[in-house]
This record gives sequence, structure tokens and C-alpha cells, in this order.
Amino acid sequence: MARYDLLVKNGTLVQPWTGEIRADLAVRDGVVAAIGDDLPASDAEEVLDAQGKMVFPGAVDAHFHLGIYRQLGVDAAEETRSSLVGGVTSVLSYFRTGEHYLNRTGPYADILPEVLKAVEGRAHTDYGFHLAPMDTAQTGEIPALVADAGVSSFKYYMFYKGFNLSADSRDARGFRMTGEGEEYDLGHLYQLMEAVAAADAARPDGRVSLSLHCEQAELMRLFIDRVRAAGDPQTLRAYSEARPPLTERVAIGEAATLAHATGCPVNLLHLSSGEALDAARAARAAAPGADIRAEVTLHHLCLDHESLDAAGAGLGGKVNPPIRTPADNEALWAGVADGTVDWVASDHACCMEESKGDALWPALPGFGGTALLYPLLLSEGYHRRRVPLRRIAELASASPAAAYGLTGRKGSLMVGHDADLVVVDLDAEHTVTPELLLSGQDHCPFDGRTVRGWPAATVLRGQIAYRDGEVTGAPQGRYLSR
Ligand SMILES: [Zn+2]
Repeated sequence: MARYDLLVKNGTLVQPWTGEIRADLAVRDGVVAAIGDDLPASDAEEVLDAQGKMVFPGAVDAHFHLGIYRQLGVDAAEETRSSLVGGVTSVLSYFRTGEHYLNRTGPYADILPEVLKAVEGRAHTDYGFHLAPMDTAQTGEIPALVADAGVSSFKYYMFYKGFNLSADSRDARGFRMTGEGEEYDLGHLYQLMEAVAAADAARPDGRVSLSLHCEQAELMRLFIDRVRAAGDPQTLRAYSEARPPLTERVAIGEAATLAHATGCPVNLLHLSSGEALDAARAARAAAPGADIRAEVTLHHLCLDHESLDAAGAGLGGKVNPPIRTPADNEALWAGVADGTVDWVASDHACCMEESKGDALWPALPGFGGTALLYPLLLSEGYHRRRVPLRRIAELASASPAAAYGLTGRKGSLMVGHDADLVVVDLDAEHTVTPELLLSGQDHCPFDGRTVRGWPAATVLRGQIAYRDGEVTGAPQGRYLSR
């Protein structure tokens, strides 16, 4: 019997923080069993030749929306399939009650098992969930969710108060499906942070955190009214002006102040602008010792509304927070380089073209991008801006793994870790099309872009799941209790 199930031979391993080492990597029973300079091919059942290629830890795509606009099971199958194209082996997906997703409310004790059942056996990557407590009863579930359900991260949407933008209504209660007397405001957020901080304190060996969508609702209402009064252009630029970076800055200030007051570890999600990044820096400086982590997305790094509007790309790029300007792209890349940004995620939400249409306000927000996680970081980061490969391994894998309770299992290439890895051809060049990405989504705001640096193979717990543009086996993803 062979000593190893799989041997990745002749490649260069890219370790977060450390950098590149020339080594072979052997896998047994789904975990990394050995790393050495010349492991014999005869010791392995199967050999994956990585000659001339880089071997990265599998990406942890920490911002995902399985089942937001389509059936959970369908999204689980098709959208994690797309993840493999981008070298993603773990997906952490947001879920909440209310409109979209399952269009219902109730205790997560009842709903989470349904979610897990819908996804089980269908996902091509490992997967976990962040949950959003929408009312006080769900906030009360936090200790049990952490202790029994393996959910160690939660979410609050700072703009879900007062009014519902997508339904063009001034009342968001129907959207949230919360009862009479249930406010969704800074009071709710404060209580939520107290509960998350208590759960974090009760678990000294791991991090329990709250993720925040930072846009300020009252200011959005004013700027939306102004855009509409000024001719109501149906463009991505108008959408950005209706939800300007100022709304992010104010929301980040509020969130960080409450995080400091309650001792709650927080994740500032999808910072879209230079102004938002500056607000995150200021929040950290004002609260030394507070655990404030920052996320940016591929689309806020790589897309701008000037180019998309000029190209007549339509509203496919509508997303919250909006796509900004080329200057914001560069400010975010500077934050990636200097360490202000902790990780990069896709915020993948499969949204079909017919749900976008040509009317700005009713168009559903969000789109997919998970298949571009390593490719865009390599093309726009490494090749174009000289971001070191080790830093890319941190941004895509090690940092989100550490933030969300996966240390010791995911995030780097270590003996004893899950054998999640990606063999990357740094010089492979492809033009992005929806077909290339193997997603269910029928359009792509990155369509037509030439991208350099693609996974040649993606390996999940020692099994080759994707190779040379094709998925190679049945879904093997498992639930990540964190
Ligand atoms: Zn999101």
C-alpha cells in the first residue's frame, strides 16, 4: 500500500507571511502528511505535477451569499463549483431571515438545520455560515449557536433601518419580517455586540465576532432623494452618488465606537472607498486594543463605475456598497499593500441578468466573483502592482481563516492541516466570460477582462476537485463547525 494518497511534486509552495519555498507536499487521509525537498513519487497513489507552478493554500472566501436569490441547494451546487475555478476550497456564507433567502422568519434553532440540510451533499467546497440576528429573540440564540451549532460569526446591516430601498418603501420592517416593537437600530446593535462580546469572552481559544455592513441609512435617504430630483440617471455613477462614501464613514465611526464600548470583535465588511478605509484606520487609532478587521472585495478593488458606464455595461454591476472610482480602487490596493486590509473576499451573490434589468432602483444588488478570487489577486495584485505572493496567500486564505475560527485546519500549507491547496500557473492568461467561471450566473461585470494567473488544479482535503478548467468529481464539501 502506498504511503501517501496524493503527492504534489516539483512545485513551489507559497506560505503566508513566510513566502516561497521549493518543496513537495504529500497528503494522507485528507491532511498534509509531509513536506520535503524530494519526496519519492513511488510513495504515492497519485502524483500531481506542479513543475513550474506555485502551490497556494486553498482560498477561504469569507463573504458569500448562498441562496439569496435562488434555491439554496442550486446555489450550493453551482456557485461552490464556480469557487473551485478561483482556487477557493472553503466558503463562509451569510444567511439571515426576512426577504430573499427562505423568505421567512423564526428561530435559527429551527432554520439553521434546514439550511444545512439544503446544502448537504451539494457543495464542492467546505462551507460554514455567518448568521444575522434580526430581532432580540435571535440575539438570545447566540450562546447556543456558538456552543452547539458551530457558528462563531454574526452580522448586522447598518442600513436596514427606517426604509426599504429595493421595494422603494420607507418601511424596512416588512423586509426584515420583524415584529411590532422590534427596532433594528443602534440599540439593537449595542445589545448584539454585548452578546457577541460575551460569547467571545467565554471562548478563550477562539474568536467570536460581528461583521458589519457599514452604510448609514438616514444619509442614504437624503442622497437618494437628491439623485432622483436631479434627473434620476440610471447609471452606476448615480448609484454611487446616492450612497456616497460619507455614508460608510459615518457608519464605521458608529460601529467602531460601539465595538470599543462593548469589547466586541468586529469585521468591517466590503469597504468600498478610500474614505471608508481612512475611517477604518481612524477607528483603530482611536481604540487601541480593539479587534477591528477590514475586508475588501474583488469588485471594489478592480471595477469602477466610470469604465462600466462608459462601456455601456448596464446595471449588472449594481452592488451594495456601490462600485466607486479608479481613485478608490488605488486607495484600496494601497490598503492591501500596507496591511490596513485584512482579507479579500468575493461577496458572491448569484444574481441573474433578468433581475438587473435597466431600471436602477428595482435592480437586485450583487453578483458573483468567487471564481476570480486568486486570478484577480494575481493579475491585478501580483503582476500589475507587485503585491508579494505571500501577501496574496494571507489575503485569500490565512487571514480569513484566522478571523473565523479555522486556524489549525485551513489557511496555510502545514503538516496536519487539511490538504486544501491550489496549483497555480502564474502566466496562464484568459479573457473572462460567464462560461469560464462555471457559475449559474448568466452575466459577469468582469466580462471581457484579460486576467493573468489561474488555478490549474484545486484540491479539497486531498482530492483533486478541479483540473484544467473542469470539475473532476462529485461534491465533497463538508460543514465547517467553527
Ligand atoms: Zn454581502
